[in-house]
Amino acid sequence: MEETGRAVVVGAGIAGLLAARALSDVFERVAVIDRDVLPAGTAGRRGVPQGPHAHALLARATAALEHLLPGLSGELVAGGAVRADLQHELRWYSGDHRLSTARPRLEGIGVSGVALERAVRARVCALPGVTITSACDVVGLTATPGRDLVTGVRLLPRADSAAETRLAADLVVDAGGRASRAPAWLEEMGYERVPEENVRIDLACVTRYYRREPHHLGGALGAIAGFHPATRRGGCVVAQEGDRFAVTVAGVLGERPPVDHAGLLAFAESLPGGEVAEVVRTAQPLGEPARMSWPGHTRRHYERLRRFPDGFLVLGDALCTFNPLHAQGVSVAAVEAQLLARLLASGTDRLARRFFRAAASLVHGPWSIGLGTDLRFPELGGRRTAATRLIAAYLGRYQAAAATDPVLGGALVRVFNLVTPPARLFAPDLVVRVLRHRAGTR
Ligand SMILES: Cc1cc2nc3c(=O)[nH]c(=O)nc-3n(C[C@H](O)[C@H](O)[C@H](O)COP(=O)(O)OP(=O)(O)OC[C@H]3O[C@@H](n4cnc5c(N)ncnc54)[C@H](O)[C@@H]3O)c2cc1C
Repeated sequence: MEETGRAVVVGAGIAGLLAARALSDVFERVAVIDRDVLPAGTAGRRGVPQGPHAHALLARATAALEHLLPGLSGELVAGGAVRADLQHELRWYSGDHRLSTARPRLEGIGVSGVALERAVRARVCALPGVTITSACDVVGLTATPGRDLVTGVRLLPRADSAAETRLAADLVVDAGGRASRAPAWLEEMGYERVPEENVRIDLACVTRYYRREPHHLGGALGAIAGFHPATRRGGCVVAQEGDRFAVTVAGVLGERPPVDHAGLLAFAESLPGGEVAEVVRTAQPLGEPARMSWPGHTRRHYERLRRFPDGFLVLGDALCTFNPLHAQGVSVAAVEAQLLARLLASGTDRLARRFFRAAASLVHGPWSIGLGTDLRFPELGGRRTAATRLIAAYLGRYQAAAATDPVLGGALVRVFNLVTPPARLFAPDLVVRVLRHRAGTR
């Protein structure tokens, strides 16, 4: 592969770091810029408020990260993260039912967002030509007048009395997260507004860490209970590095989890299964609870813009965000970075068009499965087409059947892990099993 010029990445979150890894195959220099001071230790940071909340690497994330950064899983595990079979060592609840699971093994990792970012940053930082600059805001793009071409970024270092500077680039990748300014930057340059889909779920979550001991949950990695339409509550407990569990409890559409121990325990006891409650009730709390609110899913359809400049891409949460309890964000960021690496291998010609088109179909699966699940809430805004209504109704029946049928449960867990496309759930053999279950003839 021929090396060329400089790429700039906006944001040193997981998506930006993985994009830098892909860009380093082709670009001599890759400059990653973040507005935060990036902590060396275990502290969280302002720009990544989800860092201290429970994180699990789904099977797709685990495989894609290992492909991009060989040996990373082993390093995470050596640092105390917990490798587990997500079919059998993570318990999945949907509605009131625990999904029955099946073979084959699905490998995943319990690791906090903070530890994951630190490990990925250390690996990406060590790549030839990659630099990471912290405490520096990207405040806009530079472009060639009269041509659809981005030529770099405008930077404002966060030091007192620092002046705006410019950094030229052959390619700029925005990985600025859900608050990405890319739509505004493009509008300022005269492009039309990027079409956006928003589904407001008004999520509020509270996370607390607990000491993990071998007897807890029979040694399992943890449990995930998706939002229950009747209670508007969900939550998870996931083993993380440092012999800890992260417990995250969450409410949507006005339901707010409390932060005091008694309130947190009562909330945890209202979740199906009892795993979250067991940990809150019996394990030693470590530190104070952290809160976060999250307005809802956002998907930005850059692929639908009629005009788009060369030399600019958007990925990660800046392109599409997913319900945190579905734990899909890192998987999608990693497969987008793999996509970028593949496309760059055949050059930068029409890169934006090729990337956004392929990324749209990549994002579509996790987006539609998340929506199909969340649109069970009648109060939820968002477009309900005949197709999304049908998907939501079918998934409700499917999940009830999957409580006792490991073929259905296993297939659903594979879809949640993004290793099988959601279309698999509509394959004739599974539809027949769902219908038979309803007729009580399984
Ligand atoms: C509560 C919660 C729990 C989650 N749990 C999971 C999980 O278990 N598994 C999973 O796979 N995913 C999970 N996710 C999602 C996952 O954390 C993200 O999808 C993933 O980290 C990718 O984020 P990102 O890098 O795109 O954006 P971010 O993490 O938001 O990073 C964006 C970065 O860009 C920087 N930035 C933004 N604008 C600028 C600018 N103009 N100039 C300079 N810097 C800028 C910010 O400082 C930040 O560092 C969870 C999310 C939440 C909210």
